[in-house]
Amino acid sequence: MTSDLKASWWQLKLLFPVDLEESFVWKFATLGHNAFSVEYPLEDTSRGLLYLWLPSNEWGAVEREALFTDLIQLANTFGTYLDQPVWEEVFDEDWNNNWKKHWQPDPVGNSLLILPVWLDLPKEHSHRLILRLDPGCAFGTGSHPSTRLCLEALDRKPPVALKVADLGCGSGLLGLAALRLGACHVWAVDIDSLAVRSTTHNAQINSLGSGEIEVELGSIEALKFKLNGNHVDLLLCNILAPVIESLVSQFQDLLGVNGRALLSGILITQVPSLTLVLEEFGWCVISLEDQGKWALLEVGRP
Ligand code: SAH
Repeated sequence: MTSDLKASWWQLKLLFPVDLEESFVWKFATLGHNAFSVEYPLEDTSRGLLYLWLPSNEWGAVEREALFTDLIQLANTFGTYLDQPVWEEVFDEDWNNNWKKHWQPDPVGNSLLILPVWLDLPKEHSHRLILRLDPGCAFGTGSHPSTRLCLEALDRKPPVALKVADLGCGSGLLGLAALRLGACHVWAVDIDSLAVRSTTHNAQINSLGSGEIEVELGSIEALKFKLNGNHVDLLLCNILAPVIESLVSQFQDLLGVNGRALLSGILITQVPSLTLVLEEFGWCVISLEDQGKWALLEVGRP
C-alpha cells in the first residue's frame, strides 16, 4: 500500500517469561536490533511484554520466522516456551510514536524519577531527583524488577557521601541514581562495550562528568585496577546469581570492613546457595527484599 511512500516496520509483540529478558536483550544487542522495548504489566510479574521493530524492506516472512525460531531455541535452553508472536506492519510515524509511547515518567521510591530524554518534567514530579535516560540497547531502563529493587533500596537508604562501585552498569542507571542521592563518586564497569557507551551517554545527559562517574570496559579486575588498592563503601551489582557467585571471592578487594553490597538479579530460589557462598567468604545478609520471583540482598560484614 503506502510502503513505497514511507518506511515501514514489522512490530513483534510477544509475552515472554521474565527470566528470558537478559538473554533477549543480549541477543538483540548482538544482532544490532536496537529498536525494542520491554514492559512489565504489573498484574503478572512473571511475564514481560516485548515489542521489537524491524525494517520491513529487510524482514520478509522467512527472515521473521527464522528470528522467532532463534527466540524459541533460546527459550527452550531455559526450559521455557514462548507464546505465538503477533506481527503487525506499522508505518514510520506510528513506529516513532509507538516506541516512545512505551516510555513514561517513572517515579521510583519516594525521591527518584526516571525521565526519558524527550519528555518534559511533569509538575507533579518536580520535587523528585531526575534521572534522564536515553533508552538505548543496554539493559537497565528501570522497569525490570531486579533494577527496581536496587533503585528502591538506594532511595530508602541514600548513599550520602559514599564511594560507590557499579559492577555490570548496563545503562548506568544505578550509578547515576547513587550520585543523585548524594554519593560522592561512582566507578562503573561492564563487560559489554554497548553498556559502557550507554552509561557514558546517560551520564552526559544528566550533566555528570568524569569528576563524578568513571566508566570502564571490564569486570571486577577493571574496578580493582581503577581503585588502585582503595575501597568503596557501597557495591552495586545487578548481574545474574551464578555470575555474582563467581565474583564473591573478590568482594573483599573492593569493600572495606564497613562496606555494604546490594546484590540483585537473583531469583528467590537461588538465595540459599548464594548466601552459603557469601558466608564462606565472611559476608552476611543484612536484609532481603523481593519482587515477584526476584530478590535483592543487602550484604555486609557480620
Ligand atoms: N546495572 C544495570 C544493568 C544490569 S544487567 C541495572 O541494574 O539495570 C547486567 C549487566 O551486567 C549487563 O550490562 C552485562 O553486560 C553486565 N555483566 C554481565 N556479566 C558481567 C561481569 N562478569 N562483569 C561485569 N559486567 C557484567
